[in-house]
Amino acid sequence: MDFSGKVVVVTGGTRGIGLAIVKKFLENNAKVILFGSRKDTVDKALSELEKLGYKAYGYFPDLSNYNEVESVFKEIYDKYKRIDVLINNAGISANKKIEDTTVEEFNNIMNLNVNAIFNTCKAVVSYMKDRGEGVILNTSSMVSIYGQPSGVGYPASKFAVNGITKSLAREFAPFNIRVNAVAPGIINTDMVKGLSKEMIEPLIKSIPLGRIGETSDVANAFLFLASPLASYITGVVLQVDGAARN
Ligand code: NAD
Repeated sequence: MDFSGKVVVVTGGTRGIGLAIVKKFLENNAKVILFGSRKDTVDKALSELEKLGYKAYGYFPDLSNYNEVESVFKEIYDKYKRIDVLINNAGISANKKIEDTTVEEFNNIMNLNVNAIFNTCKAVVSYMKDRGEGVILNTSSMVSIYGQPSGVGYPASKFAVNGITKSLAREFAPFNIRVNAVAPGIINTDMVKGLSKEMIEPLIKSIPLGRIGETSDVANAFLFLASPLASYITGVVLQVDGAARN
């Protein structure tokens, strides 16, 4: 894979799956711009990458605020003259029962996991249309297939991610812009480290491949879907989950 000269933007690129995606594209010669929620986490990720010999760039817009998102993409386009790949990876999860979930908590999940994707896609699409090509990839989840027993906001948001993916794939196809999603299973990140032992152990037992996924397993899927090898693939939700069935 060679992404030389390509500009790739990754939201939620400061740690976990997002940082693995950032590293994967850097290894394959892309110019990578990562987004995080705060300056300090963005700076930490950039300096971690620098220690590995990579130069990346970072921003921390409020993804739920369309005006802020629009202006950051304008700044990126003015500076780098192209945006080839947008990866909507930022996300938060939930696992509380509905009685214990506040309306504000539910709205926070929707704001980041769904509304932010609307904002970034809306802000970026005219730049991709102008260049006559582009790739948009969204991080979904295995819970977008089966739901989950508690924490309804999270699967609800990921079902919406799949809806956005399949719909924008059709809307943007005439402009040579492909839109796909990757639906990871249980992946070895902070999000999973925060789950209780009682929740995680039965989950691992239920994975036919017999292990939790690594962030690199997921990043490889993003790289493939962004590459010319996937040139006839759009509107797909690619499960990367070891055949886990939640
Ligand atoms: P993580 O918590 O390690 O990283 C989350 C990323 O999102 C960070 O870079 C953070 O800066 C960003 N983020 C969080 N809140 C934000 C906000 N308010 N504004 C902007 N950015 C914000 O999580 P992860 O496990 O790497 O998850 C990344 C994506 O993968 C999410 O969309 C998640 O739903 C999805 N996912 C994760 C797993 C898993 O097992 N870890 C499984 C399926 C799907």
